Amino acid sequence: MTETSKKTSCRKVSLTNQIVVKPFWRAATRFGIRKLTRPLHDFVGPYKDTLIHFETTAPVVALTIDDGLSRGGPHVSMVQDVLQLLKEYDATATFFMCTDYLKDQQDDVMALMKEGHELGNHMQEDLNMHYCRLPKEEFKKQLQDANQVLEELEQRHQQTTDHSVSTGTRNPRWFQAPQLILTSRMKEVMDDAPIPMQHVLGDCYCDDFQFAQDMDSKNQEDFDADQCRAVMNEIGQVLLTQAQQGSIAIFTCQKEDFVREHSMLWSISCKG
Ligand SMILES: [Zn+2]
Repeated sequence: MTETSKKTSCRKVSLTNQIVVKPFWRAATRFGIRKLTRPLHDFVGPYKDTLIHFETTAPVVALTIDDGLSRGGPHVSMVQDVLQLLKEYDATATFFMCTDYLKDQQDDVMALMKEGHELGNHMQEDLNMHYCRLPKEEFKKQLQDANQVLEELEQRHQQTTDHSVSTGTRNPRWFQAPQLILTSRMKEVMDDAPIPMQHVLGDCYCDDFQFAQDMDSKNQEDFDADQCRAVMNEIGQVLLTQAQQGSIAIFTCQKEDFVREHSMLWSISCKG
């Protein structure tokens, strides 16, 4: 790619962010994601049982971490930083796992289960418009395959841990549809699964990927710490504004040197 086209693509992303993405999230946050998603839950068939927030009288939120463990492989994984931060605040999280990313990261999965975190099913990979197009039997197979990988990891954890602190195989199995696209066909398969499966979204989310695009499209040497801090600050403020009692917060776990990871760590630090 030439320098000129690099700059053009950078400007294009930035313009989209300024005109569409950021104003949308600011407006959605002001209105309230919980209110905004209620029609989805009430009227859109496959999403009717979806957990978007949970009932509680305690001042707590649930932390979910999307695309676990690391899309880029173990050498760019930040899971140890995430685990350290969660431990610091005595927090546990549900890691929605893409099983294709786990092949070389089994030790890290064991480490997070040992800390009391749990695994959710996010299929083999977070692919856009892939699982919703699969024939029913093929989706069923891929869903079961992902469940099996998670069950084997949980069994391994059971065998290596003190049963007095073990939480056992989770029931129901949490599921988050890749790209949050759930069709009636996918829901039917989930409902017929041998272990009951609960689809989970959230009411505390910022499109951090789009927010961070401006930074990611820059060369590392152009990376400006103040600009990075400003993006993190904005993402963090959006999440903190949305968080309320019983919120389900969605963070994304990807790789080092990607601004959204730092924004996630920053947001959790602020939230305490
Ligand atoms: Zn995802």
